[in-house]
Amino acid sequence: MQILIYRNYKVNIFVLAVLAGFLSLGQGCARLRPAPGYGEEVFITHPVGGLPVTIRYLPADAPILPLVEESIRSGMEKAGRWGEIRSAFTVTVYPDHKALEKAVHKEGYKWLKAWATEEAISLQSPRSWPVFRDKYLFDLMAHELTHVVCYQTAGIRASRSSENAPFWFGEGLASVTAGQGYRRYSRKVLLRKLRSDRAFDPLSPAEKDIRDREKLVYSSAHYLVTYLIETCGEERVRDLLHRITLGDSFMDAFDKTYPFPLKRLRSEWESWLEMNEN
Ligand SMILES: [Zn+2]
Repeated sequence: MQILIYRNYKVNIFVLAVLAGFLSLGQGCARLRPAPGYGEEVFITHPVGGLPVTIRYLPADAPILPLVEESIRSGMEKAGRWGEIRSAFTVTVYPDHKALEKAVHKEGYKWLKAWATEEAISLQSPRSWPVFRDKYLFDLMAHELTHVVCYQTAGIRASRSSENAPFWFGEGLASVTAGQGYRRYSRKVLLRKLRSDRAFDPLSPAEKDIRDREKLVYSSAHYLVTYLIETCGEERVRDLLHRITLGDSFMDAFDKTYPFPLKRLRSEWESWLEMNEN
């Protein structure tokens, strides 16, 4: 309950910040958005008390700092289901989408709001999101923190290969942990889309699909992990991560953990989707 009250308070802070942003935009946006090419030295650092996390932000984002900090605290609790943070990491708030794309070297990913490695989360400032609700930020942070926890727990480096961290597993686990099902297709719609496009591989989506068909790719990932958790439980996910920590490839770890091999996952999953359409 305390958190809810506090969150309302923060929403008010945010509304003020957004209003200030609109007013400023009306007068010309130069004041809110630093010129391209701003230096690293402009960022202010803020250690989050009691957590191995440092937030880096630009002066214009100071009003949303409490909201970002609270989203990290909340997200850490949710992501903690899968392991623990073993080393310090930073959350850098970039002023707009362009700055985020530049920082993470991903161009043309219009939907991207954040990017995680084992030691850093890069976040597009919520001030520049086209649509903002505090829930979106809290869910996004839980999603990104799930990546950080999994990378650190399973010892998966940022240069992760699809061999030890397939896209569907990482994104699906993050989406499920963050409760982002409301952003995905329904099971019924997903099934229809999969049937009408047999060239699309939900277990190994092409980079172009990830960039241009985000909803299909992420919905598939979300329901693949939902299937594993609903049918085999959460403990198996932790077993899988533990086996990767001990050196198994993802495929070996999967085959030792689940009652069917990875190569049968798609057919098992699609049968489950058919039976659980709604
Ligand atoms: Zn993700």
